[in-house]
Amino acid sequence: MFALYLHIPFCRARCSYCDFNTYTTIGDLQAPYVAALAREIRLVGAAGDAPAVGTIFFGGGTPSLLTPSQVADILAAARESFAVADDAEITMEANPGTVDEAWLAAVRALGVNRLSFGVQSALPGELALLGREHDFAAAVGAVSAARAAGFDNLNLDLIYGLPGQSVANWRQTLDAALPVGVEHISLYCLTIEPGTPMQRWLHSGAIQPPDPDTAADQYEVACEALAAAGYEHYEISNWARPGRECRHNVVYWRNEPYLGLGAGAHGSAAGYRYQVVRQPRAYVRRITNFELRMTNEEAITDPLTSDRLTTDWPLSPAVAAHHAVDDAEAMSDTAITQLRLLNEGLDLRGFAARFGRSFDDVYGDTVRDLLALELLRRDDDHLLLTDKGRFLSNQVFYRFV
Ligand code: SF4
Repeated sequence: MFALYLHIPFCRARCSYCDFNTYTTIGDLQAPYVAALAREIRLVGAAGDAPAVGTIFFGGGTPSLLTPSQVADILAAARESFAVADDAEITMEANPGTVDEAWLAAVRALGVNRLSFGVQSALPGELALLGREHDFAAAVGAVSAARAAGFDNLNLDLIYGLPGQSVANWRQTLDAALPVGVEHISLYCLTIEPGTPMQRWLHSGAIQPPDPDTAADQYEVACEALAAAGYEHYEISNWARPGRECRHNVVYWRNEPYLGLGAGAHGSAAGYRYQVVRQPRAYVRRITNFELRMTNEEAITDPLTSDRLTTDWPLSPAVAAHHAVDDAEAMSDTAITQLRLLNEGLDLRGFAARFGRSFDDVYGDTVRDLLALELLRRDDDHLLLTDKGRFLSNQVFYRFV
């Protein structure tokens, strides 16, 4: 089973911290982009003999800017081209303020069965700093409307580690968000990315750099509050009600194959990692030109297009870069991604079966060090982060690169 990621690169406004592949001034491109995405889905699906798909994730950007008929076109292409499981998890990222009950009911009827709302904070000052367009009341309203439209699987994204955000401020957001009663909560520690307004404000002295010790305290507070509210901490940044883990993201964390389609999407399948061309206009052009060339039956010489589609599935005409994954990279990726899963950890037997070498054989010295430092623990056939290791997870992961 594959996971299918579909990138929707449109937003109404740019948030101050965001460096995602998304744009606010190309609304005219939305219809041709959807047509190109549906075409790419069909091309890749046809090249792979209707591979089975267990999860679909509309990420962005703001996928909730799509009209229901655009969502219908994309899902129709997916269902025609892939063997989409009857019980597939179909998630759409949504911004509060972009959805109403009619839109929610329409996409629910199309089969979307999970929504992930970007909420980020309950405090007006923090939402203003982040450049969010909505207030917290809009987030609560969006959740109510989603319930009324029949959604029973909802996620909220929240951000901590903000400039000037105290532990008490963060508690206020948690205290407001937990009673909303969603099935899943993702907490992200802010990273100030190059090229964002927030980085410029930092350089100009308009804001102070976030304090990593405060962020660690905030993480600890969140761990306690979410456990007390009945959420399972199943991945470093993710909590869920029992059985409501995000199945799509678990595919990434188990380092299983996934297909990314749409501008800038990444994929990992058939022994390759690849990235689709980043610029939406270039993406649409690539798919359209490929179509024209196919229609004209001209010779196609681009090594990343037709030849590869038949020989090196799943590459599409819009792939900009790809490389074959060797064992060293696959083993390192498996260690880093599976250790993120706090309840499962790294599957030592699965590792040996996949690579023909035991984990100890490959990483024995590193594992011994990390066990001695009490950053990892061994539990039968699994290796897991300890509580201390959760706080220092990047330090653990570096050791496996
Ligand atoms: S809504 Fe999301 S994707 Fe769009 S600018 Fe804000 S953070 Fe970035």
